[in-house]
Amino acid sequence: MSADQRRVCRVLLLGGGHSHVLTLLEWALRPLPSTHLEVLLVNPARHSLYSGLVPAWMAGRRPLADLQIDLGAVCQAAGARLVLGEALALDAQQRRLHLRGGETLGYDLLSVNTGSTLRPPDHAGPCLTLRPLARLLHDWPAFLQTWQQGDGPLALDAVGGGAAGVEVLLAVLHRLRQLRPDRPVQARLFSSASRLLPGHPGGAARRAAAALRQAGVQLMLGQRWQAGDSPASHCLLWAAGAQPPDWLAHSGLALSSDGYLAVAPSLQSLSHASVFAAGDSAAFSPALDKSGVRAVRMAPTLANNLRSALVGEPLLAHRPQSAVLALLALPDGRAIASHARWGSAQGRWVGRWKDALDLGFMRRFSPEALASLTLQGVS
Ligand SMILES: Cc1cc2nc3c(=O)[nH]c(=O)nc-3n(C[C@H](O)[C@H](O)[C@H](O)COP(=O)(O)OP(=O)(O)OC[C@H]3O[C@@H](n4cnc5c(N)ncnc54)[C@H](O)[C@@H]3O)c2cc1C
Repeated sequence: MSADQRRVCRVLLLGGGHSHVLTLLEWALRPLPSTHLEVLLVNPARHSLYSGLVPAWMAGRRPLADLQIDLGAVCQAAGARLVLGEALALDAQQRRLHLRGGETLGYDLLSVNTGSTLRPPDHAGPCLTLRPLARLLHDWPAFLQTWQQGDGPLALDAVGGGAAGVEVLLAVLHRLRQLRPDRPVQARLFSSASRLLPGHPGGAARRAAAALRQAGVQLMLGQRWQAGDSPASHCLLWAAGAQPPDWLAHSGLALSSDGYLAVAPSLQSLSHASVFAAGDSAAFSPALDKSGVRAVRMAPTLANNLRSALVGEPLLAHRPQSAVLALLALPDGRAIASHARWGSAQGRWVGRWKDALDLGFMRRFSPEALASLTLQGVS
């Protein structure tokens, strides 16, 4: 596609996920042609949240500011405009994106990086769900406030034995006990898989199981949670079954069997050349695990290929690593390292390693780092 000389060509980045914030950093450093081109980033809120630090925030180890990325500042550095909005529907044929509130945005190029979501069941009692993170941002402090003011024991049922479920359950128990050591908490973790952390090495699963048992969690492995398992008096912590957003289903885009946006190695949609996707939104072939690390790794290819699509140059292929490192935070500052080929490790040094990686990632979005990028970009 070549940039039209007579009208403004619009690049629409939908969702302020990992791939898009890094794409914008790349464009701040190496600006896109600025004439007849506008770049919009659409996200429901001004800040996006870095999930790697969510467990530390829930455990009370990190303030919220440490995990917030200021999308307005990132857009400003890249010469893009932030549109606060949430996509409700997409017509890929007509190239029109419909936002909650009725606004419609047309585009020449669209890139989707909206992540995945969870759909917790109806539960009469309190329910904390790990996604969307914006909801957790509200629900967790509200839950803590009620906890601090209340009395008596609490029964907590967590559903989902993946990395995020394990980390968050440990963080939740740590924080609840820290704030009210006088109130007993009983916890169970349900997982339909026969062991924790499916897809991770056995050693990592054993370490996670040991940490949970030490925290007093009863492991209900190989047990698919059903509504009758948790009475209304129990609090439900929902961390199971990441799913694509509903609006993708009616978009007209080619989708994978599990409903994510099917992409070629270039991250371009298999059905619509004007659409790209990255991170959890993208269904890559062969399938990749859904993780922030994967979304980060896709960013250079995405940034390059959106630029190439604008000027009609050939697209590069994203070459994913066969396995990526996962670091699971434990609430006492230790962490578990897990890698499909290298195995697993645990300790305070792993916790320091995770902190260094997470905080290093976040430093790239600090006002100082953005200012220096902009200076490099114009020089
Ligand atoms: C508690 C927790 C901890 C995790 N820890 C790790 C970890 O340590 N390491 C790791 O690799 N992975 C981790 N993950 C997994 C990781 O969060 C996801 O795989 C990753 O965030 C996906 O990144 P993304 O860029 O695709 O999208 P996201 O980071 O999910 O970002 C999506 C963005 O799109 C926005 N958005 C969503 N819907 C719309 C819409 N309709 N319109 C406009 N904008 C929209 C959202 O508000 C958000 O800003 C964790 C997940 C959770 C829940």
